[in-house]
Amino acid sequence: MKNLCDINVIKDVMTRHGFNFSKALGQNFIVNPSVCPRIAEMGGVDENTGVIEIGAGVGVLTAELAKRAKKVVCIEIDSRLLPVLDETLAEFDNIEIVNEDVLKVDLHKLIEEKFAGMRVVVCANLPYYITSPIIMMLLESNLPIESVTVMVQKEAGDRLCAKVGSRDAGAVTVAVDYYARATKLFDVSRGSFMPSPKVDSMVIKLELRQEKMFELSDEKKFFRLVKAAFGQRRKTASNSISSGMGLPKSDVIAALERAGFDANARAEKFTMEDFRRLCEEIQ
Ligand code: SAM
Repeated sequence: MKNLCDINVIKDVMTRHGFNFSKALGQNFIVNPSVCPRIAEMGGVDENTGVIEIGAGVGVLTAELAKRAKKVVCIEIDSRLLPVLDETLAEFDNIEIVNEDVLKVDLHKLIEEKFAGMRVVVCANLPYYITSPIIMMLLESNLPIESVTVMVQKEAGDRLCAKVGSRDAGAVTVAVDYYARATKLFDVSRGSFMPSPKVDSMVIKLELRQEKMFELSDEKKFFRLVKAAFGQRRKTASNSISSGMGLPKSDVIAALERAGFDANARAEKFTMEDFRRLCEEIQ
């Protein structure tokens, strides 16, 4: 098999297929040979696993996943890569490429049809322009997947894995913590990609909670509250929540006090349980 991390091999296959990188599709391909085996190993991929990959590029991670998994289904939006992948992944018979936008695929149906009887994980070097929409879609869709092991921009990884209640946390941190246990796995420098992006990266793992952290009477309200609370970080929780949720400030202060908080409390210090309590008090 050709070394798909070798810049000359990538350039050769790209030239022969008339392919050039699309910045708009976040096409930065991995050329550091140590990265993909680690993603596959730490993603818990074994011979009983069905893997969903998002974005194949020239297939460097796809091949490492296919070596270990029972089956890999890779969703790749760019049809120009199909003939490239036909060539680079020719030796594998357990890979299927789905030429779609991952945000438009019915993943419930895909898992049911392609991965019967297998444990299912997601592994990917994500296109950075849609990191959060992809992660939130995977978490919110109630899919039968065990974990999501993905490369993201370092700053995004820090926020996704931050401790709720710490300075690095944001609305997305709370949302991720509600659905999954997030762990930083390892850093990846910008030089590990071709073309080299302007930022460093990080591989993170989200292990989906099999049981909910807590029951909420209104999940949508909980996420509207969290979004509002972090919407204006410098303001007090009462100000940001009243403007973000369109509620009278006096009602928000009353809810904060019923939940046991000071009227001047700041949302960035709230824990998950604090948000739950406050959500139950907000009308
Ligand atoms: N896995 C390869 C690697 O690690 O070298 C490529 C990773 S590259 C950062 C992201 C890949 O996602 C590209 O191949 C790009 O075409 C694909 N992509 C971008 N947007 C997508 C979308 N909405 N749905 C599916 N694939 C997408």
